Amino acid sequence: MRRWMIGLLIVFTLAGNASGLEQKGQKRAMKPTWAEQGAGVFRWETAPKLLVTDGLRRSGADAIAPLQERLRARYGEAVQPQSAAGRLPSQPLILVGLTREHAALRRLAERWKTKLSTEGMGEEGYLLEITPQRILIAAAKPAGAFYGVLRLLERMGSDPKNPADLPAALIADRPAMRWRGMHVMVNGRASMPQLERLLTRHMPELRLNLLILEINYNFQYRSHPEVANEGGLTAEDCRRLSELARRNFVRLAPMINCLGHQSWAETTFKLLTAYPEFDETPDYPKDNKGIYCRSWCPSHPDINRVVFALFDELIDAFQADAFHVGMDEVFILGKCPRCKGKPNADLFAKAVNDYHAHLVGRRKVQMMMWGDRLIDSAVMKYGEWEASANETAPAIDKIAKDIIITDWHYEKMDDYPSVRYFQQKGLRVLPAGWNRAENVRLLTGCALKDATPKMLGYLATTWRGVETVVSGLEGDERALASGKDMPGLMDAIRVGAQIAWEGRQALQ
Ligand SMILES: [Zn+2]
Repeated sequence: MRRWMIGLLIVFTLAGNASGLEQKGQKRAMKPTWAEQGAGVFRWETAPKLLVTDGLRRSGADAIAPLQERLRARYGEAVQPQSAAGRLPSQPLILVGLTREHAALRRLAERWKTKLSTEGMGEEGYLLEITPQRILIAAAKPAGAFYGVLRLLERMGSDPKNPADLPAALIADRPAMRWRGMHVMVNGRASMPQLERLLTRHMPELRLNLLILEINYNFQYRSHPEVANEGGLTAEDCRRLSELARRNFVRLAPMINCLGHQSWAETTFKLLTAYPEFDETPDYPKDNKGIYCRSWCPSHPDINRVVFALFDELIDAFQADAFHVGMDEVFILGKCPRCKGKPNADLFAKAVNDYHAHLVGRRKVQMMMWGDRLIDSAVMKYGEWEASANETAPAIDKIAKDIIITDWHYEKMDDYPSVRYFQQKGLRVLPAGWNRAENVRLLTGCALKDATPKMLGYLATTWRGVETVVSGLEGDERALASGKDMPGLMDAIRVGAQIAWEGRQALQ
């Protein structure tokens, strides 16, 4: 992927302002599924009562936390959430709750039944009604209440002390895609401030609910300090991130890129410098001249003992229920005396199934991996990075079918047949785009067109340190100027998030 980046940077440089056409996807609020205006205006002259249903308070108090904070900025401590049992008082109020828990919310849901799709509100949908007297937010689950609250906050504007008057409205909203993700590279503790802002500010704004953190050796591993880079995340950092993720209804999946990608340019990564015996090609030049990335040997009798200990530490530190094993662009395979003579598809499938046995079998977490080695580039006309030209593709019929495939495609294509192919093979697929909004539109359009329930959503990849990505999202000019494709990347992230929430209407 990253070699592509270098190639594309050159193209961008030559193309000059051509990418400017795509740079107009500025920040805008997500459009709701359905909205109509009512009569009158809700004003903030006096502190409204804040009522929350008991079930929501018990199961998802975090859903109303941002609203509470905003009301506190305006009215001080005067507004405390109260139980929403029984009749509603006549004074101005905001009622947030799970639909089944309050008669006023049930009546609202009844009136709106025809406006929502047959699946109803789902896990993350909500109804928002604003009248001059009151504001109601109804959701089936806490996550829906959270997104309803976010919508209300957006309507209140950005000045916490002076919220905007709210014209009466009825809104019904639910995401088109269940999984709305971002993948970022974590450099260790230095990434913490930006990771925190990503989780608390940008992911809610973009309505994203999955963050894949590529950590690799940037964690202070206790089981194997010999493979840990200096300045890596601590277990305490991970606990903090996991807490922020929970409060913002984001799922965190740590990632170690397995098998391939064990070096970059002249730098060989710590696993292979600490354990040269795991190197698939120990005789290749130490400065990695002439090769893309080193691989570890999937047949070495001790390799899994070491890397599973790393998996376990990250899963425990994040209390994660999903783990991404990478496995993209594995070009070096079957070279060492242990592996030589075995088909590449068998070697690759063995590695996948080993990790699966540990992650899914023993740790009971979901396993994710990149999809490129499972696609035959001779059949699907992607390049040799996006699809396999080294005989690994038949592994698709030898691996567990509950693995989630992140299917990355960054080029402009009329069709992306692999998205269908993975579903046909019984695998769940999460299509992943990168730094051109136009290509993201094409990929997601293709994914939405032929989606079965195995098509999960959309993943934005970034291929820059999370510091740069977050600074870019915040409009920092130095970050935006740090690469020719940075404005395009920001645009592509926003467009992908809009399509993931709004679905087809964002493609028009
Ligand atoms: Zn080997």
